[in-house]
Amino acid sequence: MEELAIRRDAALAVADGRFAWVGRDRDAGRAVRLRRGGRVYDLEGGSIVPGFVDAHTHVLFAGSRSFEVGLKVRGATYSEIARRGGGIFATVRSTRAASDSTLLAESGKRLERMNALGSTTVEVKSGYALDHAGELRLLRLVPTLARRTGLDLVPTYLGAHAIPPRWARNPDGYVREIVDRTLPVVARERLARFCDVFVEPGFFTVAQATRILRAASELGLGLKVHADEFLWSGGAALAARLAARSADHLLSVRASDIRSLARAGVTAVLLPTTPFASLHPDGSPGRALVDAGVPVALGSDCSPNSWVESMPLVLAHAVYAARLTPHEAITAATVNAAHAVGAADRAGRIAVGRSADFVVFDLPTVAEIPYRIGSIPAAVFRQGNAHSPSKVRPYI
Ligand code: ZN
Repeated sequence: MEELAIRRDAALAVADGRFAWVGRDRDAGRAVRLRRGGRVYDLEGGSIVPGFVDAHTHVLFAGSRSFEVGLKVRGATYSEIARRGGGIFATVRSTRAASDSTLLAESGKRLERMNALGSTTVEVKSGYALDHAGELRLLRLVPTLARRTGLDLVPTYLGAHAIPPRWARNPDGYVREIVDRTLPVVARERLARFCDVFVEPGFFTVAQATRILRAASELGLGLKVHADEFLWSGGAALAARLAARSADHLLSVRASDIRSLARAGVTAVLLPTTPFASLHPDGSPGRALVDAGVPVALGSDCSPNSWVESMPLVLAHAVYAARLTPHEAITAATVNAAHAVGAADRAGRIAVGRSADFVVFDLPTVAEIPYRIGSIPAAVFRQGNAHSPSKVRPYI
């Protein structure tokens, strides 16, 4: 993860949305013939990285829970916040009540800001409807969001985000609804590439998650686990047992689980701004995971609970809180994150044939991107096109 293939005095050419040539600046004149209407950009003195892959988000929701922040900093517990009308079920209510066009508008704006800050591939989870029809509705909006934003969006079905109140006394009944009713439709209509389960005390048990993930695997979906976030839950061990694509969060992971993840080749997706936004004293165990040989990837975990749209900010937290080196953090946010979302064939690297997704920083080296906390890109290209945020309407 430390070794980036860094080129100096480099140039690259893009055709039809893909990298067509990468080489030395002085060879570009001979190697590349400009098409009619083709454009040349001079990025002298800047640094370029592959477009960031945000490997874990909950961007598909409606509403805001900003009122919770004042309660949180005064020490309110999760259940106190829930009693005052906050918490995940507040977002479930506002998301269920929102029209398709409201959901597309609110989520689309978040994705456009993510794109302006360097993300070009974004994993998008369902999980704020928590019923059969509502979860399917969320997943069916993803292709429209991808078309409107121009981003590469990877949908994940997270019906098992929390036990909905109507199933509180019979959580296994909800698990059955997911397995028997919703998952088959998700697979048949190809609405999601992955299935994810929130394994944590008070959410889903290892046994329930096993049932859901086994069923998802049989239907051809990749597997992800929200594992060992605030309390140890056995989630990482489960991810290793099922050879899941990724185990995410891992704040409370145990050393023996880290060894299991390494042996099973499971990618650890760290979300280092989430403990920050949750006022959690610990940082994500980035150093321990990398040193044990676990491939580490990064995500923003953008949600109403930790509203982060900036991958450069995630990179800074990956370094200063999770203790990755700057180069490891860049690997984690590009090639490893692409692998974590099954997009390694097209994203995460600057190489001929890959999607021409790249970010330009007016910085002398790529190591300065996380070093300067919350760096802002000078330009973002997706499939060779410069990102242009949706027109800002004049205020009259
Ligand atoms: Zn999450």
